Amino acid sequence: MSMTEEVAAQVHLYPGIADTHTHLILWQTKEMDWKTLFQTCVEGGLELALDVGTNTDTFEERLGMVNQFKELYITDGLSVSKSELEPADLKRRLDELEKQVAANRNGGKLVAVGEIGLDNHFGYGGVQAQKELFAAQLDIAKQFDLPVIIHTREADPDTYSMLAGAKLGKGGIIHCFSSDWEWARKYLDLGFYISFSGNVTYKKSECIQKAAAKVPAGRILAETDAPFLTPQKVRKYPNWSGFVGYTYDCIAALRGTLPEELAVQVCRNFKTLMGLPL
Ligand SMILES: [Zn+2]
Repeated sequence: MSMTEEVAAQVHLYPGIADTHTHLILWQTKEMDWKTLFQTCVEGGLELALDVGTNTDTFEERLGMVNQFKELYITDGLSVSKSELEPADLKRRLDELEKQVAANRNGGKLVAVGEIGLDNHFGYGGVQAQKELFAAQLDIAKQFDLPVIIHTREADPDTYSMLAGAKLGKGGIIHCFSSDWEWARKYLDLGFYISFSGNVTYKKSECIQKAAAKVPAGRILAETDAPFLTPQKVRKYPNWSGFVGYTYDCIAALRGTLPEELAVQVCRNFKTLMGLPL
């Protein structure tokens, strides 16, 4: 059996479910055929998914993918990874981002700037360079009145103060939330949504689980971050949107609700944030 067939056999979704953060272009690096599998998701009830950018170089290719399904939306941004932080290249990349956002702002598919943020775990480029890249992209989001998708790892104090200082019109999403309830509460106070990924299902994730139980219903989201962070039950496989139901099961149990109800709520929250018709 191919990897595509193997993971498709484990699909677990609910009607009207959403995956608020995925990287379709990277599914392919794990020998998963994205188009076949996304079609499987749609047939399984997936109502929407957000394909998140990490690099302007791949935006046009990603847009071509996203345009093939009405369920897919797209973001554009420069993540805090090594390649995005070459100082000589930074100005060109930020100009390119601004041009791409301007050209697609009103096309219906581009709904946010991201993923952007700070990462002290890998520390690419150093704290100062990361902050400059982050600040420049917060400005672009503000300029085009778009929400932001935030990646923050071991960097909450700086991420929080930069978001508080940016005073964005639309707020955004703290993606793959991996801190404790105290930080969740602070981001919620800034108007942000909190998105939980497959790592909430892992045994050692007690802090994240406590936060997932407490985030108000009107601000919670759920995602795969595929192909990464596969939920515990299917952890031997690479991740894809068809596995997001396992994460809904876990979050719903923590909150004393049903995954079907959580699916409806998450979908409504995502559409509200992105200004999509309910
Ligand atoms: Zn991501």
